[in-house]
Amino acid sequence: MTTLEGIVLKERTVGEQDKFIDVLTKEKGLIEISVKGARKINGKSASSTQLFAYSKICFNENKGRFHLNSAEPIHIFYGLRNSLTAISLASYFADILRFSTVSLTDSGNVLRLFLNTLHFLENGLRSETMLKAVFELRLMAETGFMPDIICCRSCGSFEPEKIYFSLKDYCFRCCECSASDENSICLTISELTAIRHIVLADFNRLFNFRLSDESMCRLAGFSELYILSQLERKFNTLDFYKSLNGK
Ligand SMILES: [Zn+2]
Repeated sequence: MTTLEGIVLKERTVGEQDKFIDVLTKEKGLIEISVKGARKINGKSASSTQLFAYSKICFNENKGRFHLNSAEPIHIFYGLRNSLTAISLASYFADILRFSTVSLTDSGNVLRLFLNTLHFLENGLRSETMLKAVFELRLMAETGFMPDIICCRSCGSFEPEKIYFSLKDYCFRCCECSASDENSICLTISELTAIRHIVLADFNRLFNFRLSDESMCRLAGFSELYILSQLERKFNTLDFYKSLNGK
């Protein structure tokens, strides 16, 4: 029997009574656990195996499959359910996680990033635009897709006034070395500084930076394009979230 802490990213009903849950754990990465008689169980084990429950999960392993024994909630993130946009954004985050953490064995940083982001989202402590940008970019950095954010790739300029990010070769170039085209995104130096902060800062300082609303929107536009082009796919949960915001 194994006991691990993890957060439920997805529930899938199987037949009349059972379900599978995808759980992100620090030690084993993403695992699928079968929950027998999910409809019948109640109390602690029921609430702690629902979507976005962060729980202490006790399970048996048999022939490479995991079967739930019992579960105890640590934090359920009930507050997300008070806002349709918040729960939709969290569902999008869970989707990207399921897609990008399959092969990760040590998911400590990714798990921490998700828990921290949900904490700020649940309590409305930061704007959804900011949380989305931070989550997308830091997740990419933690899973091996960190953008090259040091300086202009061509001339080495560290703090140009404006900078273009190329979606062709995933690097920055200053105005002198690059021109705007449909494959590049133009950012200001303050937006680049925010990107550097997001991919490099310690977790306890990660959400502590400020940008104007306009810059935050451009940052979020950049992070979305970056993650979608790196992962080379679309997410229905993202389309739904954007439709709620009239985009
Ligand atoms: Zn340059």
